[in-house]
Amino acid sequence: MLTPQPKIDKHNQIVCPKCGKDNFEGKHKLHFLSALQSPQGIDTIVNVERWFCADCSHMITKEDLDDQFKKPKN
Ligand SMILES: [Zn+2]
Repeated sequence: MLTPQPKIDKHNQIVCPKCGKDNFEGKHKLHFLSALQSPQGIDTIVNVERWFCADCSHMITKEDLDDQFKKPKN
């Protein structure tokens, strides 16, 4: 039995809202939580990944994705 794969095609491909390109680079912001702040009670590094257009360096935001995928097109 094959596990069902999510359907990946050009209809759900994210493109840069500024330049329309579809190449992105991930960058990481790291946050340090001391043992007192961390839910696990130990010193923890939290990694927040952001995605930037490889061509124009625009950072992809949730709003960009809402614009691209959730707003009705007219
Ligand atoms: Zn771009």
